[in-house]
Amino acid sequence: MLRTGLYIIASPIGNIQDISARAVDILKQAEVIACEDTRITKKLFSLLSISLQKKFISYEDHSENQKSQQIINFINNGQAVVLISDAGSPLISDPGYKLVRLCRQQNIYVTAIPGACALITALQLSGLPTNRFMFAGFIPNKDKAREDLFDELKDIDTTLIFYETAPRLLKTLAAAAQKFSDREISIARELTKLYEETLTGSANELIEHFTANEPKGEFVVIIAPPQHEQISIDDIRPYLEKRLRETSLKTAVKEICAQTKLNKNDVYNLALELKHE
Ligand code: SAM
Repeated sequence: MLRTGLYIIASPIGNIQDISARAVDILKQAEVIACEDTRITKKLFSLLSISLQKKFISYEDHSENQKSQQIINFINNGQAVVLISDAGSPLISDPGYKLVRLCRQQNIYVTAIPGACALITALQLSGLPTNRFMFAGFIPNKDKAREDLFDELKDIDTTLIFYETAPRLLKTLAAAAQKFSDREISIARELTKLYEETLTGSANELIEHFTANEPKGEFVVIIAPPQHEQISIDDIRPYLEKRLRETSLKTAVKEICAQTKLNKNDVYNLALELKHE
């Protein structure tokens, strides 16, 4: 018997086998299923041989407020409610955030059963740095909004990840060619499906590819972080000497670290050495 509360369950993003055994077990036991398109979720249940004898509630972006209260009423009446998306992890460019927030405010038990998420799978396949990344959701469709977003993000020192649709991909790559001309870009398409592919190159190389091969399916766009000029500790020696004559050691070290991203201890040790020369 399931504990009363909300169960956030990830569904597959293409390959049906990517649902976890725990997810299937909970889907079988839950009494209420909150989902985006009830037809899609019912089809998933049928493929997994799970009974449809449950209450299915459609829970979409535009009905989040009204449906959240209905879901909370079910939970307060002692039922276990599942939140599931059409594909992938709920709340990730999908509805659910408001519901989870309300549940937490009311001390309702909430748990998540992890699984497929397109942005993570695409990042794993991209070959781009994974230590720091920013997911920025869907790229806006309007030219000005897209440009503004790219301007806002272009100097941030992280890998950038976006969701994109097939009809908009070439426009997005054209904008990326303006704003991210020197950056490597990875395009992941149809992840976990028959025609899965991951391509990397400059925006212009990818434009060439997708002009010859019409974009089809679902896409994740990943942009490499900005490249910083590689400055070595030896390069800064003359400048550091000069600054040590003009200002305090602390200020000189702080300035150089901010400008170069060199290791603070290395700069500090060099400054001490120069001071004692
Ligand atoms: N919640 C989902 C997740 O965890 O990834 C994302 C839902 S969002 C409404 C749908 C977008 O995710 C698609 O337009 C596409 O950009 C991306 N996406 C979903 N499945 C994908 C797949 N199999 N391959 C590539 N991108 C995918």
